[in-house]
This record gives sequence, structure tokens and C-alpha cells, in this order.
Amino acid sequence: MTDDTTLTARERLRIHLREARRTTDSSIVEVQLDAALDAWTDLPPTPLRECPICGKVGVPERIQQHRCKIQDQSDENIEF
Ligand SMILES: [Zn+2]
Repeated sequence: MTDDTTLTARERLRIHLREARRTTDSSIVEVQLDAALDAWTDLPPTPLRECPICGKVGVPERIQQHRCKIQDQSDENIEF
């Protein structure tokens, strides 16, 4: 199983919808999940955000969790 902490909410939503469709025994539920996946495909793209410290650009959830490059460099400077 993929580590959920590295996935965005959008990616997790798609995984759960696909898994539910794959495992359901109900054709009615399957049709609903197909419609949900179609709606997922139609979602507008997530606006990207830029880290104010290092300038890294990505989806907001990843930028919030990323290890800032400037912090990494200062760690390296201590090691060397
Ligand atoms: Zn940063």
C-alpha cells in the first residue's frame, strides 16, 4: 500500500474511489463510482503554491510538508 502521507487529498480520493469500484459486488454502486471517477477527472487543476523561503513550487499540501532546501543546506553546512 502506498504511504498515504505523501499523497494529496485528490490522489487519495481517486485511490479510494477506484478501490471501491474494484471491490464492489453491486452494479448500482459501480455505476455511481464510475460517475464519481468521471467527476474526479473533471475537477479543475489544483493551483500551485510557492514556498516563501526557498521558492519551491508544488501543490499546497506538498509545499506545506516539504523539507525546505535552505534548511537542508544549513544542516549540510553543520555536517561539513
Ligand atoms: Zn521551502
